[in-house]
Amino acid sequence: MECVLAIDQGTTGSRVVLYGPDGGRVASAYREFPQYFPRSGWVEHEPLEIWASVVECLKNVLEQAPSVSVTCIGIANQRETAVAWDARTGESLHNAVVWQCRRTAERCSALNKDSGMREAIRRITGLPVDAYFSASKFEWLLQNVPRMRASAEAGCLRFGTIDSWLLWKLTGGQTHATEHTNAARTMLFDIDRLCWSDELMKEFGVPRWALPEVQSSWGRFGSTVGGYGLPSGIPITGVAGDQQAALFGQACFTPGAAKNTYGTGAFVLLNAGERRPAGDRRLITTLGCGVSGRPVYVLEGAIFSAGAAIQWLRDGLNLLDSADSSERMARAVPDNGGVYFVPALVGLGAPYWDPDARGTIVGITRGTTKNHIVRAALESMCYRTKDVTDAMAGDSGLAIPELKADGGASANDFLCQFQADVLGVTVVRPKDVETTARGAAYLAGLGSGFWSDVSQFSDALSIDRAFDPVMPAEQSGKLYEEWACAVRRTLSAYPHGGHSTCR
Ligand code: ADP
Repeated sequence: MECVLAIDQGTTGSRVVLYGPDGGRVASAYREFPQYFPRSGWVEHEPLEIWASVVECLKNVLEQAPSVSVTCIGIANQRETAVAWDARTGESLHNAVVWQCRRTAERCSALNKDSGMREAIRRITGLPVDAYFSASKFEWLLQNVPRMRASAEAGCLRFGTIDSWLLWKLTGGQTHATEHTNAARTMLFDIDRLCWSDELMKEFGVPRWALPEVQSSWGRFGSTVGGYGLPSGIPITGVAGDQQAALFGQACFTPGAAKNTYGTGAFVLLNAGERRPAGDRRLITTLGCGVSGRPVYVLEGAIFSAGAAIQWLRDGLNLLDSADSSERMARAVPDNGGVYFVPALVGLGAPYWDPDARGTIVGITRGTTKNHIVRAALESMCYRTKDVTDAMAGDSGLAIPELKADGGASANDFLCQFQADVLGVTVVRPKDVETTARGAAYLAGLGSGFWSDVSQFSDALSIDRAFDPVMPAEQSGKLYEEWACAVRRTLSAYPHGGHSTCR
């Protein structure tokens, strides 16, 4: 059988999945790899360990499905993580600086104080200035790693995000490329002109020749050279950052289509179409994969703590035994009893952008039980999602007709139903929640001609359950108003007019 092979290279592990011609899953494998925390707030990965985890998964899936012939390969990857290697040796020059790493936070806060630069970065890249994105990580590597400078002086330095590193390894050093969705997360890419920005390369001291060529998300990226479990000559024909791959894997092909991945954090992405939305700066504007091959604009809202709040109640407070039991506990009480939990455990992301906000639980009385607290944590994921989708509707003018859900916490039926009630739209959960790998496979299948158009595989994304809103709008409106009061009490400087309106 002919199959598409998808590599989903994530922050804590790598996954490889094989899909058959009907889009059905044939085999999959997953491997974790080590995380390094050399100093407080610093996070690194060893690029060769990432590659080894991918190779192990490749070998494993082919052992599971020995009669399969791999037609093409797609890659989805953790975004923003910065890798540097030398073209002569093909060896990395330093550990990868992971998206979570805060080592360049000071540099970014200095940049943020320069309003001209802050505005230029927002205008050119669609991003707020933050250590999260790759640019300041590349700059740090160049300034702090002597081997890096020597390699740069010899003209052999290669920079890239994880997709570029995997492309380099898979093609035996023949391809140094990336694509629009990953490039858009570097804070060096002009999302209007679709090219690297001269101004920003200069600001961060990153030479153009060290950066990868930027291609469309599907097309020819090169071919395997073999020697790591796969035969040589298999084309790599689809690449995207993980959240954009999930958006594509959820078949969000038209403007207004949106998905939310409920994991440790939650990522809401909205397909905003082929024209950049005007935006009022509360969200990230970035690029996504279009069905035509051209990129689309995407509005993205990051919710830093989603499932993390449940993890904290479980591991920090021992209020529950497993994340799964949160559903039973939430259903054990008729409502939240007036308790609101604002999970600003690491600050509040979009649309508040308050890194100094800290979590609050408000409305506690003598009648409050642990079930109320757990319920408030689940409800908070839904309110935070509405915070983001309301901002999206305001920015793009696109009303979201329904929300596609995936990620570990989307298994929770209470959560999905409450989300539908709070938003007043249907929440759809697919049977296969591995939407990131699926998106990479779809891109690769289009890029190779394995699938001629999206209708050929999107039917494979069958629905597990659709949750229609049942709560009266008046009731959900009141709950959301109370949530907004709780948020105001949480924000560090009460930038939205203080909490005087709250009881
Ligand atoms: P990530 O990929 O970000 O590590 P996952 O998609 O694997 O995350 O989801 C794991 C997160 O989802 C954890 O934070 C966990 O607390 C939460 N979670 C998992 N199952 C449930 C559930 N049934 N109800 C609520 N939260 C859950």
